[in-house]
Amino acid sequence: MPTADPLLEVEGLTAGYNGTAVVRDVALHVGAGEVVALLGSNGAGKTTTLSAIAGLIKPMGGAIRFRGEKLTGAPAHRVARRGLALVPENRALFADLTTRENLRLARVRGRSNEDDVLDLLPELRKCLGRKAGMLSGGEQQMLAVGRALVARPALLVVDEMSLGLAPVVVARLAPVLRTVAASFGTGVLVVEQHVAVALNVAERAYVLAQGRLVLEGRTADLRSRRDLLLACYLGDLDAATQLNAEVAAEVAEAQAAQPA
Ligand code: ATP
Repeated sequence: MPTADPLLEVEGLTAGYNGTAVVRDVALHVGAGEVVALLGSNGAGKTTTLSAIAGLIKPMGGAIRFRGEKLTGAPAHRVARRGLALVPENRALFADLTTRENLRLARVRGRSNEDDVLDLLPELRKCLGRKAGMLSGGEQQMLAVGRALVARPALLVVDEMSLGLAPVVVARLAPVLRTVAASFGTGVLVVEQHVAVALNVAERAYVLAQGRLVLEGRTADLRSRRDLLLACYLGDLDAATQLNAEVAAEVAEAQAAQPA
């Protein structure tokens, strides 16, 4: 269901590399205070979609609006200034700088949020004097998320949140995204390889297969449709389309049965 005033609106996005499209006609939106997951198998086009939204690659078509401003094709530094913070898959920390220095570098005049970040991720306090390159994978990901939050972004975009992390770390980190959305009104768009985690942490999800959106919905509805998600992940687009139509019909039926 579109929010009244989406923070991020993407319409008809086509993007790729060297003139070849790898995602086509992608439409999605994220509202303030909302956690949204972008799912799909390896190579489905999730990172490409995030890269186009964050201004790291120029879209080949479509439109991107962020906080009411058309930002299609705007460079990454402009998108970041407008309030989008990206945590990339490789985390992009300064390995030779300490945790404290990594956080300080992310400060934006008048928008510094380090105390809130340390309250949110108290594990980082004991790491403040240690070089980022020496932290565990989980601590590095916490630092990457914390650093992205220092400038109080309107939208936090996290690519492959739990890549390479132990389940116990994922279980600690995933709820942080919910807290960020609920406490600061930040919109969150997360790519997450563990479908079950994504369905628990996000309120809505989009599924990409072979560069196209094949499914979107409230995670409360998707959780019970493992068959549908599996079809999307296996790239069985016919099965996914058929199942998607069934889910839409079931939702419509349930809504019609509800008292007005
Ligand atoms: P994964 O979960 O494996 O990270 P993904 O869904 O994020 O996958 P993308 O990284 O967006 O998928 O890749 C989509 C397609 O674009 C793949 O076929 C990939 O090989 C291709 N691709 C990604 N980056 C580049 C690049 N820099 N140059 C050319 N092709 C690329």
